[in-house]
Amino acid sequence: MSALIELFLCRTDNFGVLLHDEASGRTAAIDAPEAAAIEAALQRRGWRLTDILVTHHHGDHVEGIEALKASYGCRVVAARADARRIPAVDVTVAEGESVEVGTLTAEIIDTPGHTVGHIAYWFKQEKLLFAADTLFSLGCGRLFEGTPADMWRSLQKLRALPDDTQLYCGHEYTLANARFALSVDPGNQDLVKRAAEVEAQRAAHRFTVPVLLGAEKRENPFLRADDAGIAKGLGLAGADAVTVFAELRERKNRF
Ligand code: ZN
Ligand code: FE
Repeated sequence: MSALIELFLCRTDNFGVLLHDEASGRTAAIDAPEAAAIEAALQRRGWRLTDILVTHHHGDHVEGIEALKASYGCRVVAARADARRIPAVDVTVAEGESVEVGTLTAEIIDTPGHTVGHIAYWFKQEKLLFAADTLFSLGCGRLFEGTPADMWRSLQKLRALPDDTQLYCGHEYTLANARFALSVDPGNQDLVKRAAEVEAQRAAHRFTVPVLLGAEKRENPFLRADDAGIAKGLGLAGADAVTVFAELRERKNRF
């Protein structure tokens, strides 16, 4: 018995994710970007939706909640800090707590920065991390509500998880992220190789996610704001990590 995952595209570039617990038959959606796409995925697999694990309040992550709840009567789990901005919440959670999907357990990690109430779901035993719009493959979310210091702290928490963790994120942004990453870290041979892989994956219309967190630690510049080489490349030799992170995020906004 184990955890099965169905990954699919919603809207234009949002990932839809279903996580199915074979032992109990329960199925969770990570966020609800689009009810119709999620229902189609449930039908493909023959699964019934029992839970929605919400990461943050943005419309492209919550829009399908009410329709799905009306169809399936599923439980909606969301951050306590943001529950009033998220529709139809049943259970609220915060860092240090956990939530169960049948026999699967997610630890909650508070990851403010993209929004103040953003959370990530870490299934420690299954080695799965659902980081939504905090950590993208080769990138990170925009700072809509939090400060660079908030986001850097959040990314450090995710970076502290084991290398063999499979990272799932909120959007298929990896190709654009890879091109930006190369512009600030052109000498990183792991990144050069990965960027070529990503170009090929996208040319073949394949998803670039999931990806191992260990690879992200080597290749994602936003996880390396405390690396002396990255700082130097930005003309910020000796600067603190928050300053370097803020500069990376600014440059990405303009890229
Ligand atoms: Zn968002
Ligand atoms: Fe999003």
